[in-house]
Amino acid sequence: MAEAKKTIIDNYYLLQPLGKGAFGEVFLAEKIPGRKRYAVKILNSQTGKESLRGFLNEARTSRLEHPHIVRIRDFGIDGETPFIVMDYIEGGTLRQLHPHREPLPLKTVLSYVRQIGSALQYAHNEGLVHRDVKPENLLVGSDGKILLSDFGIVTTSLSWNPAAAPGIAGTAVYMAPEQIQGQPVRASDQYALAAIVYEWLVGVPPFRGNWTEIMAQHLKAEPPSIVEQNPDVPEAVEKVVLKALEKNPGMRFASVSDFVEAFEQACRPPVGTTLLELDGQADLMTSLAWSPDGTQLLLASRENALHRWDAETGQDLGCRRGALLEATAIACSPDGTLVAVAGRDRRIQIWEVEREKTLTICRGHVDEVLALAWSPDGRYLASGGSDRTIQLWLAQSGKNLTASIGHVDEVLALAWSPDGLYLASASYDTRVHVYEALTGKKLMSYRCEAGVYALAWSPDSTYLAAASYDTTVRVYNIKSGQEVQCYQQHTAGVFAVCWSPDGGLIASGDDDAQIHVWQAISGKQVYVYCGHTGGIRALAWAPATACIASGGLERKVLLWQAPDSWTT
Ligand code: ADP
Ligand code: MG
Repeated sequence: MAEAKKTIIDNYYLLQPLGKGAFGEVFLAEKIPGRKRYAVKILNSQTGKESLRGFLNEARTSRLEHPHIVRIRDFGIDGETPFIVMDYIEGGTLRQLHPHREPLPLKTVLSYVRQIGSALQYAHNEGLVHRDVKPENLLVGSDGKILLSDFGIVTTSLSWNPAAAPGIAGTAVYMAPEQIQGQPVRASDQYALAAIVYEWLVGVPPFRGNWTEIMAQHLKAEPPSIVEQNPDVPEAVEKVVLKALEKNPGMRFASVSDFVEAFEQACRPPVGTTLLELDGQADLMTSLAWSPDGTQLLLASRENALHRWDAETGQDLGCRRGALLEATAIACSPDGTLVAVAGRDRRIQIWEVEREKTLTICRGHVDEVLALAWSPDGRYLASGGSDRTIQLWLAQSGKNLTASIGHVDEVLALAWSPDGLYLASASYDTRVHVYEALTGKKLMSYRCEAGVYALAWSPDSTYLAAASYDTTVRVYNIKSGQEVQCYQQHTAGVFAVCWSPDGGLIASGDDDAQIHVWQAISGKQVYVYCGHTGGIRALAWAPATACIASGGLERKVLLWQAPDSWTT
């Protein structure tokens, strides 16, 4: 507290210093009535007129109200001492959070760019240019949220005139060339953000050296390649960052939000990223699923193997093989720890993925098993097949709970509703039945024009989508019993179907290798994906990212970008 002349400013007790800047010091403070905590910035005692003007400029931005901008609550002059009262942000600065010169994961950078970008765009829309975007001005909230601070403090010449303010040399690291020349514009903030992003991706800022050297490079030098320094950064990402670092502000993105959008786009795996090409021996792939937290993509293939990938990067996490050679159906449990595989010998084997060990065997079907479905809690397994029965098993013991004749022909698909209440079955006999899951009591029955090969429940368990060889996908409202949609845009039999996590869209895949994405209720088509060369047999929509995984008969698993739900 040596620097502070007083321990009370206006209505605030200064408790402890939080940090020092170019113009003053920031203290943790308590408002005297109420004892609520704030951060109070007070100006240096040797305050000049210029700093005072900057200070009041900052105070003037107190009208800014945005989730990623530090709120200014009060300002004034106590005797000779000007002060600003802000919300206290307890997590320190991004400089403190990442003190080491190490590249950050792309995921982290993307999350920062989104938050800071939205704050800057808001300020720009309000007619303000920040002019001092740097890690020291990016504060970390208790929930990890990033907040931009220090608006307006550098609207004076002090910010760019090194002779006037030698103490703020650090700022030059991120300063746009036109700002160095005294002409800051909105795009100068975009440049500064891009320079910080560069540092997060590489570990060091684009230009280094002393004050004069850094200035000279901002004006004339090309930033060194990002990809050469960190090969993990996608080239598309580098391209976006370098565009925002153009010397001429007119060559950058038209706005910060355009920069953010391009950055987001560049971070996604390219459309049609091939995750896997199974070898020629392998049979169809039947079951694709995302782990519940969305971090892994799981594929159970008919060669009785479980393949796994990291969802964000597409990195292969390896493959586990079970014991059966010829599987007729396969399904991984909702948490991905168990896999049920039905063999040509009509038995269903449940194996533990991690230990690659058989947990139990379910015996009871008298013909081939063609469909398997796990209850959402992973306790039960339902099976159906050529013997037309639908059977229920206790997954841990393999104990048979019920067996009933459900259809007059082969059972081709089973789906358990996410709330656990219903089980739906589909058959070559053109029917779809809905049962009370644990009692087997039939609640509803629907019919299509041909065999029904795939079923999918909406995330809220209200709707059921049924994909048929008759080229349609029908959507039923299970609460009302009504068919609410019959999607007819496919040109061939439909064999795979899934819902978007928000329930707004359906993706369905046909034997012409096309995947259609459409609005579940209106049936309006929003997108057709044509990356496969073989009929589609599996589809899964990632829980958190806008990503769809698909498996085709050409034995490829592709990852591609899903359209955003209702906006399309
Ligand atoms: P500069 O941004 O130039 O480093 P400031 O005077 O703006 O200088 O702030 C000095 C330091 O005080 C910051 O780097 C940060 O560590 C801390 N600080 C500033 N504002 C807040 C706040 N609202 N809540 C918590 N800490 C803050
Ligand atoms: Mg600051």
